[in-house]
Amino acid sequence: MSNLTRSTAAALADGLAAGEVTSVELTEAHLDRIDAVDGAVHAFLHVDRDGALADAADSDARRARGEARGPLDGVPIAVKDVLATRGLPTTCGSKILEGWVPPYDATVVARLREAGLPILGKTNMDEFAMGSSTEHSAYGPTRNPWDLDRIPGGSGGGSAAAVAAFEAPLAIGTDTGGSIRQPGAVTGTVGVKPTYGGVSRYGLVALANSLDQAGPVTRTVLDAAMLHDVIGGHDPRDSTSIQQEWPSFTEAARAGSTGDMSGVKVGVITELAGEGWQAGVMARFQESVDLLVKAGAEVVEVSCPSFVHALATYYLILPAEASSNLAKFDAMRYGLRVTPEGNPSAEEVMRATRDAGFGDEVKRRIILGTYALSSGYYDAYYGQAQKIRTLISRDFDAAFADVDVLVSPTAPTTAFKLGEKLDDPMAMYLNDLATIPANLAGVPGISVPNGLADEDGLPSGFQVLAPALADERVYRVGAALEALYADQWGGPLLDKAPALAGAATAEVK
Ligand code: GLN
Repeated sequence: MSNLTRSTAAALADGLAAGEVTSVELTEAHLDRIDAVDGAVHAFLHVDRDGALADAADSDARRARGEARGPLDGVPIAVKDVLATRGLPTTCGSKILEGWVPPYDATVVARLREAGLPILGKTNMDEFAMGSSTEHSAYGPTRNPWDLDRIPGGSGGGSAAAVAAFEAPLAIGTDTGGSIRQPGAVTGTVGVKPTYGGVSRYGLVALANSLDQAGPVTRTVLDAAMLHDVIGGHDPRDSTSIQQEWPSFTEAARAGSTGDMSGVKVGVITELAGEGWQAGVMARFQESVDLLVKAGAEVVEVSCPSFVHALATYYLILPAEASSNLAKFDAMRYGLRVTPEGNPSAEEVMRATRDAGFGDEVKRRIILGTYALSSGYYDAYYGQAQKIRTLISRDFDAAFADVDVLVSPTAPTTAFKLGEKLDDPMAMYLNDLATIPANLAGVPGISVPNGLADEDGLPSGFQVLAPALADERVYRVGAALEALYADQWGGPLLDKAPALAGAATAEVK
C-alpha cells in the first residue's frame, strides 16, 4: 500500500486484512505526519507515540494469529481531549485540568481499545467544549489546514484538523451544539452527531449532560459509519444510554453509496436559510439539493417555526447545566490548585484556583448559568427555555411525520479568520444556528463536505438530520451525496486543500 496517510480508514482496514500493510507501519506513518505538520496545525495537545506503537504491535500480533477484533483493528485514531483516557492526560482544553491523568477510560475509549484501534493522542478543543473556533483553548488555537490563518471550527477543531491534515484517518469528537458538525463543515471533513443516548457519555467530561453526544470525525461517510459501529450501543454505566439493538451503520453507508435516492423524501428547513447566510454557502447548498433531486429524491420545503428560538434556548440551558457541572472543579479533587499568600481558607483557595484555571468564556457561561438557575429567575429563564425546547422537538416530530430527513447548510459561513470573532461572543454563537436544534431534540445529524463555497476556495458542509433512533438514514443520504459529488470532483474534496499540501508542511520542515 502506498500513501498511508492519504488513505481512508476503510482502505486501511482492507490493506490490513489483505496483509499489505501492518498496523505498526501505518501508525508510524501517521505519527511521522503529526511530527511534520502539527507544529503548524496544532491539532494535538498530547501525542502518545509509544502507547500507539505498542497498541499497533499488539494488533499486528493478533492479526497474525487470525484473531483480529474487527475491520478497524490496527487503524489509528485521535481522541478529543474531553474524553477520559486511562494513563493519558485529559485537560478539556483547560488550565484547571492541567496535569490530570484519569485512572479510567471513557466507555467510547474503552470500546476503541477493545476493537484494537491504536490511540495516537488527544486533540485540542475550546475550553470545556465552549466555542466554535478552538480559540478558547487554554493551550492556543488549532489552525485550519486549508488556510493556517483561519479557524478549524470548534469546539472540536483539533479532531477535525487532525483528520483534514491527514494526521489521523479517524477521530472522535463531541457535539453539544454543533462541535462535531460545524468543524466538519469548515475543514471539509465528515462529522456525525448520533442520536442522544446512542453513544455512551460515561467518561465524557460533561459540558451539558442533556445535550452532549460523542461521535465520529472522518474523511468519508463510510469511515464514520464504521467508527460509529465500534463506539455505539448500550452502556449500563450511562443511565441515558438507549437499550436497543442498532442496525449496522456500515451497511447503511454502503447502501447509500450507490447514489440512488429514489423513495427518499427530503425536507429543506425554511428557517435555516436567508439573512446572514453566506451567498456561496447557500449556492453550494442549493446545488446539493438539486443533486439529490436528480438522484431521485422528492424534495419539499418544511417550516420549523420554533427553530428561530433555538439559539436563545440553548444559551440558557447549556450555561445552566455547565455552571452546575463545573462546580466540581474546586481545587480539591482535580488538576490545578492555586494557594493565595498567607493562611487562606478553603473557599479562598477555590476562588483563586477557579479564577486562574478558567478562561473568560467559561466564566461568562458560569455566570449566565448561575443567574438563569437562581431562585426568582428560574421560571423566567430556565423554565421558559425548557418549554421552547419541547416546541422545537414538536417541530421535528411534525416535520418527520412528512419527510424522511431534513437538510440545511451545516454552518452559515466558511472558516473565518483567527481573531475575527474572538471578542464578540454573539457572533461566535451564531455559527451554531443550524446545528443546535438537533441537540435540543436529541436527533442525529451528519455534515458532509459539499464543495468550495467562497472566493478563497474554502469548504462548506451539508447537514442531514433524521428522527431519533434513525441514524442509519443520515448515513444512507450522506453516503449518497458523497458518491454524487465524487463523480463530479473525480476524487475527495480534501485533495483540493491548498495550504495543506504546501504551507502546512513547508512551514515546519
Ligand atoms: N459552539 C457551541 C458552544 O459554544 C457548541 C459547543 C459544543 O458542541 N460542544 O456551546
